[in-house]
Amino acid sequence: MKHYKGYLIDLDGTVYFGKKRIPTAETFVRKLIASEVPLQFVTNNATRTPEEVAAMLNQYYEIPVNPDMIYTSSQALIDYLKVNEKGKRVHVVGEKALKDQLERAGFQLDQTNQADFLVQGLHKSATYESLGQAVQALLNGAKFYVTNTDQLIPTENGLYPSSGAITAFLSFASGLQPLVFGKPHAPIIEGAVKRLCLNKADVLLIGDNYQTDIQAGIQANLDTLLVLTGVTQAQEVKQLDPAPTYVVKDLSEWELG
Ligand SMILES: [Mg+2]
Repeated sequence: MKHYKGYLIDLDGTVYFGKKRIPTAETFVRKLIASEVPLQFVTNNATRTPEEVAAMLNQYYEIPVNPDMIYTSSQALIDYLKVNEKGKRVHVVGEKALKDQLERAGFQLDQTNQADFLVQGLHKSATYESLGQAVQALLNGAKFYVTNTDQLIPTENGLYPSSGAITAFLSFASGLQPLVFGKPHAPIIEGAVKRLCLNKADVLLIGDNYQTDIQAGIQANLDTLLVLTGVTQAQEVKQLDPAPTYVVKDLSEWELG
């Protein structure tokens, strides 16, 4: 096994599974932190701030992390916007966490059709009227950015439509294709690698979902480790093409070297 200097780690399915704990993953992460190995947790979920994610990991999973170790699809998007849309007005289709982060990054919210660009994430209280306003902004020339295009989100009432379903609605109505930042797209991985301040060859990406985590890693030219504690099942591994660099049953099988 090769030695890696830093890690990008998915959360749900990799570090925990819904509300269930994965003790082998917690041990692995605590070992990384104790050895001061640079790492970033990379999550598509744009409905929570890094502070909220870190608080949850500390409280429920005994994983002692700081908010600066969490990289969400909304942060990847904001890192991009700071360079490319500086000083411009944004129409937001998304939850409070996304709006707060955009405002903190210096962007002025403008929920009219006059906004310069539109940012969309999961918005659980979206209405036909609010989505109609968003479509108006797009038809009026606002650039179209999306945090993540997850298809479904697990809830207490079963699987519900996730961010990508809203993207499909806006995209269909406007006839426009967005720039997407979350996995399986590469921008979130590129942004997270930058934070580690390491070369790509020295970084390993760990995730449980071949279609999102591993695909994003491959898109970004990183070595990948598929862990079979979440979405992708052992019987699927043989057919995966291109294959992940490594596959393990759980993270107790991965030696830090
Ligand atoms: Mg996952």
